[in-house]
Amino acid sequence: MLGLMQNQPLLISSLIEFAARHHNDAQIVSRRVEGDIHRYTYKDLAARSRQLANALDGEGLEQGERVASIAWNGYRHMEMYFGVSGSGRVLHTINPRLHPEQVAWIVNHAEDCVLCFDMSFLPIVQAIHAKCPAVKRWVALCDADKLPADSGIPGLLSYEAWIAPQSDRYHWPQFDENTASSMCYTSGTTGNPKAALYSHRSSTLHAYAAALPDVMCLSARDSVLPVVPMFHVNAWGIPYSAALTGCKLVFPGPALDGKSIYELMEAEGVTFAAGVPTVWQMLLSHMKPGGLRFSTLKRTVIGGSACPPAMLSTFQDEYGVSVLHAWGMTEMSPLGTLCSLKNKHLELPKDEQMQILQKQGRAIYGVEMKIIGDDGKEQAWDGRSYGDLLVRGPWIVDTYYKGTSPLVRDEQGHGWFPTGDVATIDADGYMQITDRSKDVIKSGGEWISSIDIENIAMAHPAVAMAACIGMPHPKWDERPIVAVAKKPNAELTREELLKFYEGKTAKWQIPDDVVFVDAIPLGATGKMLKTKLREELKDYKLPGL
Ligand code: ADP
Repeated sequence: MLGLMQNQPLLISSLIEFAARHHNDAQIVSRRVEGDIHRYTYKDLAARSRQLANALDGEGLEQGERVASIAWNGYRHMEMYFGVSGSGRVLHTINPRLHPEQVAWIVNHAEDCVLCFDMSFLPIVQAIHAKCPAVKRWVALCDADKLPADSGIPGLLSYEAWIAPQSDRYHWPQFDENTASSMCYTSGTTGNPKAALYSHRSSTLHAYAAALPDVMCLSARDSVLPVVPMFHVNAWGIPYSAALTGCKLVFPGPALDGKSIYELMEAEGVTFAAGVPTVWQMLLSHMKPGGLRFSTLKRTVIGGSACPPAMLSTFQDEYGVSVLHAWGMTEMSPLGTLCSLKNKHLELPKDEQMQILQKQGRAIYGVEMKIIGDDGKEQAWDGRSYGDLLVRGPWIVDTYYKGTSPLVRDEQGHGWFPTGDVATIDADGYMQITDRSKDVIKSGGEWISSIDIENIAMAHPAVAMAACIGMPHPKWDERPIVAVAKKPNAELTREELLKFYEGKTAKWQIPDDVVFVDAIPLGATGKMLKTKLREELKDYKLPGL
């Protein structure tokens, strides 16, 4: 027997119409590429999203056709989130930090028909437009008078001139909630990038989940600053959850340095911010010397790579800001786990609470997870046994766009997505990533977690960033070394750092060497790029070999 409730599809257009009706005057503030601050409301956002939808109809775009963006976090990009997906097209957000060759490759692979870009990325578009014949309309996300006369891009239009003649009334089409809404390519550190193709259903369910109290706890009382880019897994779903809750939104545009982020947070009363550890590192380094304080910030989500415990305690102890450590990936929309305490933990001593909060956290309802050993058997949830982390759920990839399904089947035939991460899960369900499977260091048959080794180095006051990699060893297979970028003007020797490890980890896990580097190479999403580091250190030999 079927239930007798209304079978209304979960569509992205309903989010923006909800926000326009119930939070019409809640603000969306954006720092623009032009440098100034732009301010409008959800009502304006909805009206302009409808104008964009009309402009796409005017281009003759069919349902399901792809519209790409190469853009910072800002209001025009937000309009694309709703105007493109809401009208039944697929928004393809492109990471501008990829090499132009790779950008051209993914534009062609996705068969994008329209490409909208911020003027900062004009050089990328100039480099690729001749290689992307399927793009029939290039749009610069700017005012008509900011359009360069000699861009070299045929038929280039300014976004404002494009949508200005369009009506702000639009009948959002109703369709199956499993229809594709947006897509995002993985950063492709190995081989060509692969795309996750999200649906209206997956994005809407994820938007509900992201707003939950033990997740981002978003509400109409918040002022939210997503530093995490809208070109990286939909800014962790914040644009959709923002429309769902009616929170104030603050977009940083291109200014992602510590000073600009700090000033924006203070000026706009930001209560909640989200980003990767490297961004927060820049913010904290800006604040420390001048003794600056946060006046309104209460919570921050840190994810995308492991949050060093030292950063967690700085935020919590020095600034009184709660840190929510988050784990996820492109293939998971991206949220999988978030870390917050349970009721029974509230009485624990502070250091025991900190031990818990360092973990990647508990699964959100909608994400099932398990860890399996080399024999394919599920490992115990005892906080010690580790294994490959597998997940399944309604916002997790089934098949890559134009690709194959990465899922592995269990005995009941359920498909699980192998995350490529190695983890433990404790009896309370807190998951902790020990490594990416390709970064684990295998020494004498035992595994060493590169994240643990990095976290210890990062707790040293002279260390700005640390990356641990395995080096080939004739007897032990591999031994860990740690590459370290020092803080400006800081003094630190190899011996001092190795001594710092003593008592903090088992003796055999202490790195064999410390290599000082000017900077740790970072990938397109601000994460440490260990492949590049290994390449840079290809002539390196372990001491004594
Ligand atoms: P890419 O594989 O292109 O870097 P993602 O941005 O989807 O794409 O990265 C997902 C990976 O990032 C995860 O599989 C995991 O290895 C790592 N990661 C994400 N969040 C965390 C975290 N909180 N701690 C440790 N690793 C993390």
